[in-house]
Amino acid sequence: MKHAVRAVAASGFVAVAILLLSWNTYFAQLNYAAYDFTLRLAGSIEPTSPTIIVAIDEESLARISAWPWSRDKLAKIVERVESGNPKSIAIDLILDDRTNEEHDRSLSDAISKARSVVLSAHLDTVDNENYWRKPNEDLLQPSVRLGHVHADPDFDGITRRIISAKGPFSAFAIEALRGAGIRPSEEYEIRIDQANVLLPRPINIRYAGDNRTFTHVPAWKVLDGQTGANDFKDKIVLIGMTAQGIPDQWFTPFAEFGQRMSGVEIHANAIETLYADRAIFETSDLTTLASLWLFVALLIVMDRRFEGRRFYAAAVLSGPLLVALSWLLMKYFNVWFPFPPFLAAIVFAVPALEVTKLVRVNRDLDKKIEKLSGQIGGGHERSLQWDARERILSAVPASPERDAWLAIFDDHRSQSTHKKTQHKNLMRSPRHNARWKLDAVDYFNEELVRFLSFNNAILASIEDVIVVSDPAGRVVYQNPATKRLEGYREDPPFAPDYFSSLLNRAGFAADFAKVLSQQETVSEPFVAAKNGRDFFNISISPISRIGVVLSMHNATAQHELNVAKNDMVSLVSHELRTPLTSIRGYSDMLLKYNLVQDKGKEFLGTIIDESARLNQLIQSFLDIAYIESGRQKVTKTDFEIAPVLKDILNVAGPVAAEKGITLEGPANLDGMCAFGDRLLLNQALTNLVTNAIKYSPIHTTVRIGVVNGGGRLRFDVADQGFGIPTEETSKIFEKFYRRGNKETRQQSGFGLGLSFVKEVAARHGGDVSVQSEVGKGSVFTLWIPL
Ligand code: ADP
Repeated sequence: MKHAVRAVAASGFVAVAILLLSWNTYFAQLNYAAYDFTLRLAGSIEPTSPTIIVAIDEESLARISAWPWSRDKLAKIVERVESGNPKSIAIDLILDDRTNEEHDRSLSDAISKARSVVLSAHLDTVDNENYWRKPNEDLLQPSVRLGHVHADPDFDGITRRIISAKGPFSAFAIEALRGAGIRPSEEYEIRIDQANVLLPRPINIRYAGDNRTFTHVPAWKVLDGQTGANDFKDKIVLIGMTAQGIPDQWFTPFAEFGQRMSGVEIHANAIETLYADRAIFETSDLTTLASLWLFVALLIVMDRRFEGRRFYAAAVLSGPLLVALSWLLMKYFNVWFPFPPFLAAIVFAVPALEVTKLVRVNRDLDKKIEKLSGQIGGGHERSLQWDARERILSAVPASPERDAWLAIFDDHRSQSTHKKTQHKNLMRSPRHNARWKLDAVDYFNEELVRFLSFNNAILASIEDVIVVSDPAGRVVYQNPATKRLEGYREDPPFAPDYFSSLLNRAGFAADFAKVLSQQETVSEPFVAAKNGRDFFNISISPISRIGVVLSMHNATAQHELNVAKNDMVSLVSHELRTPLTSIRGYSDMLLKYNLVQDKGKEFLGTIIDESARLNQLIQSFLDIAYIESGRQKVTKTDFEIAPVLKDILNVAGPVAAEKGITLEGPANLDGMCAFGDRLLLNQALTNLVTNAIKYSPIHTTVRIGVVNGGGRLRFDVADQGFGIPTEETSKIFEKFYRRGNKETRQQSGFGLGLSFVKEVAARHGGDVSVQSEVGKGSVFTLWIPL
């Protein structure tokens, strides 16, 4: 919108400026030249008016006598013409003086006998006084019409128009037509209060051509009686001088080669123009202004659309088009469309548009350089707090490796110093001219490329696999580590499918949705690769809202170690349990059959207690090892929650009672059901409840809550116990992790209970977490999907 207003204002300004300029003499001259050019281009036309010229030409002067001729000759010409029955006779000669009385009379007789005669009045100036030279009294008979023959050439000496009325007289051409009984289509005279009032108006002559376009009859032929009987019939006969060298000769638009046209021929052209209604219409200044405005606006629009070479071509081409339009209007509509102001508009507006653009680009460039120099500066690098060379020398004993490090360091240092100097020199330069700007752009460009290749090198040197996808699922980057994977494709398909083809796992599309919608990372350890031999810890993270990155860390070794460890642990546990069972069995028997005495019984009691503890440890461990190894199948069923909770409360009740702890279950479960492995969940919840009792002081309360909502079933076990500091809340779920506080040490345990709970939750697709405050209590939350 702002652009549009600016374009309209700018084009208006240019249009007005050019119009004002076009009123300047030089420009007016150009305009006239263009007018003449267009008229010539429009070409000659075949005259249609019944006009014929009786020409007093060189030959007549040579044959009859030099000018002036005696009036009786003129009288004879009038008589001869009249005898041919013309419509009117118009004499373009000044007859204001008196000559030989007899000759004058013969002319006045001839005129009085003629049906319609038009004589000429000429405006002359003597001593700065204007006066009309009219035919003498004798000739001014009632039937005679008078027309002014005053020429009105433009300041360049070219006659382009006549004025319809001057002083008391209509133009000679108008009177000649009226004398022939023809009325021009336009009114140049109106009646006001019974008097005729002349309307002086310019009439632009549509010249039919150059000299001799109209039929000429030499005057000597008329005098000699050599003309035909029908030569003058129904014609408007103009009698005048055409001989070269007479004063009444003028330049016309057709006078291309400096040849002038006699006044009488100009009258013939004016008569033709009025007769055929072909006066050239000139567009008004307002129309020109409006079209100029529109044209400049069009140039601006074109410049916006087709910047550069196409615009120049269009602008240059519009020049000939304008000339062609002007020619068309002149030829077929007799309208003068002044094209020079439009050409001027092209000449001024095109460079002006370029300059404006240049200024704007320059300003933008300044701003951009300023912004860039803020972002990519030489001085933003963190300065070193130590002498790097010294450090390397003291940290590494002399060796080829140390020398290589030093060489690389020196190289890097000299490069950064060079860059810094370059930046400093650039910024210090006093003149920020166009050359400087280009240098600055080059510098920033280099810096950006350097920065990009640095980043690329970082990504390329990472051992982990990195695959980046845009939100459309198009893979936009894969680092070189990806190439080593089975299933690698240079032009990968839909990213989630591609991930599935790299890894032995489905469901990446759902991960994409989660990552993009919640802007959270999804991670999974030990995902098998396509080849089945390698295992990866993968994470899928959002890159803001513009993409997703999959990173895969090869964890095959760790995975193998885990498998081996688990195998070994369960193997060892099995092997341990067998002798343990015998130890317990035989100890029990020794006690039962009273086979040992006093102190021995006490020792046996300790053996039995310790072997029970060991058995407990092995059992807990096996539980986890089993479930982790995947050998323990999770059998999910729908079961009611209330009886399970009742069981738990029954088991935990006595332990709680010992410490005076109140156990509170949910008030009303209304036949609420869970879908999962009943035994595993029972055991997990029991672990949470017994922990709550274990790690709470006496006479407190442990509450168990069940919430069903949001597609999840949530169990909360809240106590008023010792609490867990925030930094340890994630560690307590690790295997064998026990807190080191006094309260924990007083309780027996192996640090396996919570890792079992975590594993059970994970196997159900849920999770366990804790909210705790030291000294106030904790809330453990276990949830599983419904
Ligand atoms: P343990 O056999 O030691 O109970 P767990 O895995 O069940 O092993 O728990 C790990 C550690 O977490 C415990 O040693 C204890 O310090 C802490 N803990 C567990 N439950 C609670 C609780 N409700 N309140 C305070 N500390 C707890």
